[in-house]
Amino acid sequence: MRIYVKTYGCQMNENDSLYMMGILRECGHEIVDDLETADIALVNTCAVRKKAEEKFYGKLGEIQHIRKKKKMIIGVGGCLAEKERERLLSKGVDFVFGTRSYSRIGELVERALKGEKFTYFEDHIDEITSQTPRIISSHHAWVTIIYGCDRFCSYCIVPYTRGREKSRPMDDVLREVESLVERGVREITFLGQNVDAYGKDLGDGTSLARLLDISKDIEGLDRIWFLTSYPSDVTDELIDVVASSEKISKNFHLPVQAGSDRILERMRRRYTREEYLNLIDKIRSKVKDVSISTDIIVGFPGESEEDFKETIRLVEEVKFERVNLAIYSPREGTLAYKNYEDDVSHEEKVRRFQELLEIQKSINRRINESYRGKVVRIIVEARSKSSLMYGRDIRNKIIAFEGNENMVGKFADVKVNKITAGPLYGRLVWLEGSEDDEDKALRRSNSQAEG
Ligand code: SF4
Repeated sequence: MRIYVKTYGCQMNENDSLYMMGILRECGHEIVDDLETADIALVNTCAVRKKAEEKFYGKLGEIQHIRKKKKMIIGVGGCLAEKERERLLSKGVDFVFGTRSYSRIGELVERALKGEKFTYFEDHIDEITSQTPRIISSHHAWVTIIYGCDRFCSYCIVPYTRGREKSRPMDDVLREVESLVERGVREITFLGQNVDAYGKDLGDGTSLARLLDISKDIEGLDRIWFLTSYPSDVTDELIDVVASSEKISKNFHLPVQAGSDRILERMRRRYTREEYLNLIDKIRSKVKDVSISTDIIVGFPGESEEDFKETIRLVEEVKFERVNLAIYSPREGTLAYKNYEDDVSHEEKVRRFQELLEIQKSINRRINESYRGKVVRIIVEARSKSSLMYGRDIRNKIIAFEGNENMVGKFADVKVNKITAGPLYGRLVWLEGSEDDEDKALRRSNSQAEG
């Protein structure tokens, strides 16, 4: 069968879809990009924000429109499927499955092909292991190491849709990494909704710090990232391991969500503004040239102008390298939905969003200025929409340059010559595997700059 897969939401969902596609291919199905020619359309959904939900329903309408002209089975999985369940069957979906049953996708598709209409949900994660087939699309791979979340932040639906924290055994994770490296992967990102909680439930000393420490010695693995950190779960051991190796990314993505203690408490985040700032100081004092990025929600219920100003002050004080900004949207089933009135008007939320965005842009521009004239080592990732090639450095900074697809997956040195508030632009001065040795290329680049 020809199967089309559409994914919404976070990297976790993207990675789950790669596993699903790998399993379906192993079962003899073909994965296609063209919805019009597909026999089965699978949608992996997100329920974190209303916008993602709206996008899904738009896509469902498009799929159903095509199904009027040809036979097509529709399967819907992921976080929104967990939330909506049977309701999706009444909207014309043929089968609905949860976030803890991805590895059963082959069987679920077989049932749907026999004409069954059903829902399939499990309470416990049906674990992906190193033996699960998966698709590798480049030199980079995501590796999920912990499922679910125990934090229950008041605005978040994830603990309800993905269940409680469950870590994969470290041996199995390492086997997966080694097998990915054998297949040509040189860069990996360890993933978890709260990646710092990795190993806590196993009770055998497993931790993210230990995993990073062992992984850094895997030959052929050149860069290691981890996402997403929960501030109060970041340990000294983790910071020390990050500082100890050139292979481990010098980027901590630490969602702060708000700068006011009152709002942090309402959000049920388990740290104060001061504790967060102390953590940043500690990381910066131990990890040389580290970059810190964050997530912030504006317009949370009860957020006053003064609370918002506290967030602005925090952003100005920390000077994040990147801020993912979101406007609060109430999610049915969460504590915030139950306990708080969504009392900040939409216009006010948009105003706060824009104000913070402008502040962050000017911070970005100032930080990016420090890159001007520098030669930065990146791994080339892909061609961008502007048709330049791009890659990122060890601090997660994106740099674009003139190049070609043969460079993908290789180390490259790029001399930065143009600054924006977003990506940097530069000129290639060295490419891994080229005849020029690195020193010669650098000397030539510097003398050209002087001239
Ligand atoms: S840490 Fe909070 S925001 Fe992140 S997934 Fe868990 S409950 Fe959601």
